[in-house]
Amino acid sequence: MRLARIATPEGRVVLARIEDDKAVPLATEAEGPTADVLREALAGGVDLTSTAAAPLVLDDCTLLSPVRNPSKVLAIGLNYADHARESGLEPPKAPVTFVKTNNSIAGPGEPIRWRGTDSAEVDYEAELAVVIGTRATNVSVDDALGHVLGYTCCNDVSARDAQFADGQWIRGKSFDTFCPLGPWIVTADEIPDPQALDIRCRVNGETLQDSTTAEMIFGVAEIISYLSQYLTLEPGDVIATGTPVGVGFARDPQVFLGDGDVVEIEVEGIGVLTNPVEVAS
Ligand code: ZN
Repeated sequence: MRLARIATPEGRVVLARIEDDKAVPLATEAEGPTADVLREALAGGVDLTSTAAAPLVLDDCTLLSPVRNPSKVLAIGLNYADHARESGLEPPKAPVTFVKTNNSIAGPGEPIRWRGTDSAEVDYEAELAVVIGTRATNVSVDDALGHVLGYTCCNDVSARDAQFADGQWIRGKSFDTFCPLGPWIVTADEIPDPQALDIRCRVNGETLQDSTTAEMIFGVAEIISYLSQYLTLEPGDVIATGTPVGVGFARDPQVFLGDGDVVEIEVEGIGVLTNPVEVAS
């Protein structure tokens, strides 16, 4: 099942189940800047199979980020063996965790935007993102995937100059629009093995990352179990699970994003997340 957060032609924001060229509304988002229909619907026990509402024509709607105000977006650094090698770093002994703040969330098609004076080294990172479905506290590796609602694509956009200047990564990873998510969530039942998915990034049509989630050092189940030992994962929370080989700063010559570029993140079984780039002077 594909779940999307969409804007209808009348301007409502709804959680919808996508069925071919139709979108079946399941819940309507509340008003206000902190609303999040996915989080609210999960907390309220939404029936994802409901057919109560009349279907909308998907082409008449706008896909938004599948979540907008989760309780948190967590991310894992250096989690692909091939990426650790290109970065010249030893594979970590435990997951390296950081956060991306909610202001960074962007939807499919929304521009990744920054001022050129704020960063000259903005990089792409193709990632498989996990969306939590049920609260997880101190869960075992064996039970971890049972807490997953589904998966979506994430671009963990990173201002390398800011990231490496600070000693920790929050600023460089959390500029406004630096966490594109989408185009929708594919529920976990359709992705029985999240460690067997091709993952790619293209910039202006050129493939710059082309790997598989089998390269993850810590798999999705291990990541969820590990995090849940220390902090409770809530329905709607997002975990970006790390990026494979081929990021721009580790290439020779280096590649950074610039005004007018188009970035595509593709994960097998999920789809393609496309975002243009706009750099203001
Ligand atoms: Zn990343």
